[in-house]
Amino acid sequence: MKKIKSLNLFKKALTLMPGGVNSPVRAFKAVGGSPLFISKAKGSKIYDVDGNSFIDYVLSWGPMILGHAPEQVVKAIKKCVENGTSYGAPTPLEIELARMIISFFPTIEKVRMVNSGTEAVMGAIRAARGFTKRDKIVKFEGCYHGHFDGVLVKAGSGAATFGIPDSAGVPESYAKDTITLPFNDSKAFKNLLKKDNKRIASVIVEPVVGNMGCILPTQGFLETLRDETKKYDIVLIFDEVMTGFRVSKGGAQAYYGITPDLTCLGKVIGGGLPVGAYGGKREIMSMVAPEGPVYQAGTLSGNPVALTAGIETLKILSRAGVYDKLESRMQALEEGLKDASKKAGAATKFYRAGTMFCTYFTDVEVQDYTTAKKADTQLFSRFFKGMLDKGVYLAPSQFEAGFISLAHSQQDISKTIDAAFKTFKEISI
Ligand SMILES: *Cc1c(COP(=O)(O)O)cnc(C)c1O
Repeated sequence: MKKIKSLNLFKKALTLMPGGVNSPVRAFKAVGGSPLFISKAKGSKIYDVDGNSFIDYVLSWGPMILGHAPEQVVKAIKKCVENGTSYGAPTPLEIELARMIISFFPTIEKVRMVNSGTEAVMGAIRAARGFTKRDKIVKFEGCYHGHFDGVLVKAGSGAATFGIPDSAGVPESYAKDTITLPFNDSKAFKNLLKKDNKRIASVIVEPVVGNMGCILPTQGFLETLRDETKKYDIVLIFDEVMTGFRVSKGGAQAYYGITPDLTCLGKVIGGGLPVGAYGGKREIMSMVAPEGPVYQAGTLSGNPVALTAGIETLKILSRAGVYDKLESRMQALEEGLKDASKKAGAATKFYRAGTMFCTYFTDVEVQDYTTAKKADTQLFSRFFKGMLDKGVYLAPSQFEAGFISLAHSQQDISKTIDAAFKTFKEISI
């Protein structure tokens, strides 16, 4: 594989940006080597500056559920741009997207648009604190909720990849209001609330964890979170920035039949442009300014170009049969990958929820941060490189989820399974 242009660009980038990138995991540090610089993407494929092409399972870390550059979305964006790119005043697009979000997520009664998943979580937690007049939050080990201070404690994803449990630069005074518990540990959760329920404003969770691979909630866990928080008037926040539109059309909450008080969205709702949103119960969202005393604002929030990309994406996702197609493609990939691993004699565990998935190099069931960390990251690195050489672009870390899109063809899937079988064999010796 030719890499000379990417290598040269990375050398230059290293002198200009921390680690040469604008988001840590992109740097390929966890798998060794250096990142590919991308020149374009279309459908299921991405192309790098050296002319290599890959079947893409990163999909910009989730958003590109239709595949890259879908015609309808691109056309609408072009048309929108002609009329100006930002006004800092209300537009009809905001009403249209708000309506669509609410139709996908009926637990959302009112919604506020922001520019990223991080911002969505910040807003939701502030609203929960304002509403309950309490300070503490509970999160689960290995769940990632964005890069701001209060949630960068045992935060999975990039932090898991680099083995940094907490970020430098987060004052202890911020971290002290964050209580962390193991994911899927209903007992620990109940015990905590029994002792300490009066000071807890909110419990935030990735209902399916996509930031330490892909970890499913065990039976009864999400139900316990719902029942117990209700008991003590604690605001339950589902961070569905990744799981929204992916675990099912209505996210993990529809799939598992749980009603959170607030929901955070991002990734897919921007159709590849920077959009986030938080929303939920009317009485909590009415705390948000200018209706209530909880301040939160954004110069580019509700940006017309970004919302257009989101609206067109959700329009396509609303069509009959789209989720059936996604499901059957994903099933084919799941069966193929499991089979390939078995035939090649590799010790792996495969998990998936809707269109997000992860193959862990381990022989223990993965159900929390501790078991996820048992995965063999060296073996994963070799798998990653083998797949890349065969034209398959996976996330460069064992602790990231993979995604498929509507543009992934049966042929893409077969090619991926072939590549996986060969790579499993190569690395099992
Ligand atoms: C990606 C992600 C975020 C952060 O979103 P950004 O747009 O990167 O700020 C928050 N929560 C979850 C669950 C995520 O997957």
